[in-house]
Amino acid sequence: MSTVLDVQHLTTHYRTLRGWVRAVEDVSFKIEKGQALGIAGESGCGKTTVAMSLLKILPKGGRIRKGSIIFDGLDLVPLSNNEMRQIRWKGIAIVFQGAMNALNPVFKVGDQIVEAIRTHEPDVDRRSGMDRARSLLELVGVEPHRVDNYPHEFSGGMRQRALIAMALACNPKLLVADEPGTALDVIVQAQTLKLMRELKDRLDLSMVMISHDLSIIAETCEKVAIMYAGRIVEYGDAEDIFKEPLHPYTQGLVKAFPSIKGERVRLTSIPGSPPDLLNPPTGCRFNPRCPYVMDVCRKEVPPLKMQGNEDHLVACHLY
Ligand code: SF4
Repeated sequence: MSTVLDVQHLTTHYRTLRGWVRAVEDVSFKIEKGQALGIAGESGCGKTTVAMSLLKILPKGGRIRKGSIIFDGLDLVPLSNNEMRQIRWKGIAIVFQGAMNALNPVFKVGDQIVEAIRTHEPDVDRRSGMDRARSLLELVGVEPHRVDNYPHEFSGGMRQRALIAMALACNPKLLVADEPGTALDVIVQAQTLKLMRELKDRLDLSMVMISHDLSIIAETCEKVAIMYAGRIVEYGDAEDIFKEPLHPYTQGLVKAFPSIKGERVRLTSIPGSPPDLLNPPTGCRFNPRCPYVMDVCRKEVPPLKMQGNEDHLVACHLY
């Protein structure tokens, strides 16, 4: 297997009037060809900032302050915006959350896909762009003649599929999906995830799937990184972590989701709320909410260390 993406010590902060918000701190992970990595955690844990850092589309004030993002052998961090244009869409593409709002309501779906193709491949003429748009819609399970429809003529699930088709328009090697099921009902959400799994296998795509829902990640991804307050606290095989989480935060996340199989158990939530990342707690950032907190947790940042097998890493002083 070859490595498509190798992120090392990624540190992304946002400059605000009150100081730097430390949104992502020292995050490292790798993705092999044809493999999917899920990034899970509560809102505000930094998962979307990781996704935006990969494409270097951070909002104003956001800056990658340290680390490297090696995509296909090339470090993206020092690249200019012009150089990044060659990478976006053709190398790494993103499916944003909120299918309802991501398409322009005044243009036909086919025209929007053609525009995405011609922006990144200016030599493609309109007719062959439209042929590709039809094939792309077919690939994601929408009838090709629907290229002539406006977004309001599509259901929520079809719009999500159209966005996935648009992201695949220039045959990227890596697809980043930011909460792809958000705002869709559970049945359409399950169909979208099934489609993403099928596309990953059929096109040998590598994927980063961002979600707050661990069960979505366990179903779609081989690997998972659990983020808390800007740091990865547990990393490993998605199924193993879902079945036997080691970090107290991951244990809390797993207990917060219902299981439709097995015994009926009362769901629990993690007390407290995520910290202010302008002034995060010293030591382990989870210490104010952790039921197992010790003195050392308030002083020293726990390193991400191997547990059991070399693929399972946990950042906690308990281990
Ligand atoms: Fe809890 Fe300490 Fe582990 Fe952090 S390092 S999760 S505070 S036990």
